[in-house]
Amino acid sequence: MKVLKFGGTSVGSPERIEQLLPIIKSQTADKHLVVLSAVSGTTNDLVTLSELYSKKENNAARKHIDFLYNKYRIFTHELFKTPEGKSEAHTFIDQIFELLYSFENTDFTTREERIVLAQGEIISTTLFHLHLKEKGISSILLSALDFMLIDHENEPDIDYIREYSNKELEKYPHENMFITQGFICKNAQGETDNLRRGGSDYTASLLGAALQVEEIQIWTDIDGFHNNDPRYVPNTKPIAHLNFDEAAELSYFGAKILHPQSVFPARKFNVPVRLLDTMNLKASGTLISGETTNQNQIVAIAAKDGITAIRIQSSRMLMAYGFLRQVFEVFERYKTPIDMITTSEVAVSLTIDQTEYLPEIIEELESFGMVETDNDQSIICIVGDFKKNNHGHATIVSEAVKHIPIRMISYGGSENNISLLVPSSYKIEALRSLHNRLF
Ligand code: ASP
Ligand code: MG
Repeated sequence: MKVLKFGGTSVGSPERIEQLLPIIKSQTADKHLVVLSAVSGTTNDLVTLSELYSKKENNAARKHIDFLYNKYRIFTHELFKTPEGKSEAHTFIDQIFELLYSFENTDFTTREERIVLAQGEIISTTLFHLHLKEKGISSILLSALDFMLIDHENEPDIDYIREYSNKELEKYPHENMFITQGFICKNAQGETDNLRRGGSDYTASLLGAALQVEEIQIWTDIDGFHNNDPRYVPNTKPIAHLNFDEAAELSYFGAKILHPQSVFPARKFNVPVRLLDTMNLKASGTLISGETTNQNQIVAIAAKDGITAIRIQSSRMLMAYGFLRQVFEVFERYKTPIDMITTSEVAVSLTIDQTEYLPEIIEELESFGMVETDNDQSIICIVGDFKKNNHGHATIVSEAVKHIPIRMISYGGSENNISLLVPSSYKIEALRSLHNRLF
């Protein structure tokens, strides 16, 4: 079995949906589990709708649903060719929108919000299932809510996912095409929930890992991970192969193509992930696996914006132990993850990208010493094979950015990453200059 996940743009129009079947048919596995995102834009529309309902702006909410309903009426009218197909699709769409309209008279809490957000994937998967049916192709639509589960900490429960997805699949031993929703799941309270924005990749990886499939394919509209950000740098190239660690670094630092968490289940259960392009079927994309093929090489450069650097300078740090623990505890109390960190004997600098509690964090840190912050910073992440015997890479990197002010450098945290923190205004220059020097 293979898991094939298609993102929002790959199901973004009736024409794009019609392209999916030939892609699935071109695969060699005996069985396919197709995971779909919502049609691009829909989850954002549902977020907006939820905000309107929460603010009790019911008129605006109704208008927003009218607009979305219209869009889907046209969508289904174009996707379905026969009167029966159209009618079945319209009946389904009507049901979903009846549900969306019905929240007008309820107390709209986060519980209702999560039900609203789930409808995007329910719509896309059902439409695809009905589309196959209209073409006379048999498929089974599985509800992800029957097997995707997160626990009290919002962590996926892989044992549960394995047991219950297998149970569903075993009901149809002779079927070879299964469809299910990305993103959505049940939580520990048994309510409808989700794996956070962009979470469909994560669904695909969790299912692929749980079911120990041959391969997890993530279909988007770029031909794999590129060795630099194609939005800012000319002549970037897709990377043929990455190991799981390299892919984890790259997906976290900037490369928007893969949801960062989705590398971990695949790595843990050693299931290869292949990134493929629905607009360029000949491209071989990027294969992510446990193997390291880029020995002693720099593989890619990526950047992450919206970073705030915080420096805490304290004489109490000098020759003291336990100081960093106290600093980290502040961030822990405010559930704020730290990305980069560099230390000297009397100061520590670290970066965060969630600034919701920044004022509170600064106030607490000021009890240790002087606190300085810089916002609008970018992390430039250079990914490669930097094992300790592979010397020379740091010199080449620093030489390439010698004309750029560097706020922090981190090397040696992992064997795969050199990170530089620069003011965001220098990001593009840093990416280009590194590209010219490294590739
Ligand atoms: N539809 C969800 C989102 O837009 C999940 C996904 O597309 O991966 O965030
Ligand atoms: Mg995505």
